[in-house]
Amino acid sequence: MKIAVFPGSFDPITIGHYDLVKRAIPLFDKIIVAIGINSQKKYLFPLEQRIAWLEEVFAEEPTVSTGSFEKLTADFCKKEGAQYLLRGLRNASDFDYEKTISQLNAIVGDGLETVFLISPPQYSHISSTIVREIIKGGGDASPFLPKQIKI
Ligand code: ADP
Repeated sequence: MKIAVFPGSFDPITIGHYDLVKRAIPLFDKIIVAIGINSQKKYLFPLEQRIAWLEEVFAEEPTVSTGSFEKLTADFCKKEGAQYLLRGLRNASDFDYEKTISQLNAIVGDGLETVFLISPPQYSHISSTIVREIIKGGGDASPFLPKQIKI
């Protein structure tokens, strides 16, 4: 079984994340979209809300499940029997950051492989950060959110 973990904050999940998972479905037997909990980080939406959204968005996908974890991503992968991490690349700064994390996870995770998918041009400007700014400013973030999510 090829199992991948897609870790992130998903604060909130965007159409960029959704597109990534949809494109990865044919590549893996199972994908676990998992929220990493960092106690130092301030989130806009509570964990329960973010998980509920993930569950709703992927409800029709039998090979996609959701979860959450504290501490190391590599340990969560081990616990779930996942051999792969899934991440997205939007631009060169994503690459610089992701390269280091991926090399680190390969060591800490004992050969854990990161699979990267390049975002399509129409989604490469979309981030949870931008969505949060729109929401905080009282704007309409719906063009950037999966249709199941109403904020
Ligand atoms: P983190 O807090 O770990 O950065 P995010 O929820 O912001 O978590 O993102 C998780 C992953 O989703 C990252 O690999 C990021 O590159 C990817 N991602 C985010 N937005 C997009 C997008 N618009 N297109 C493709 N990948 C994306």
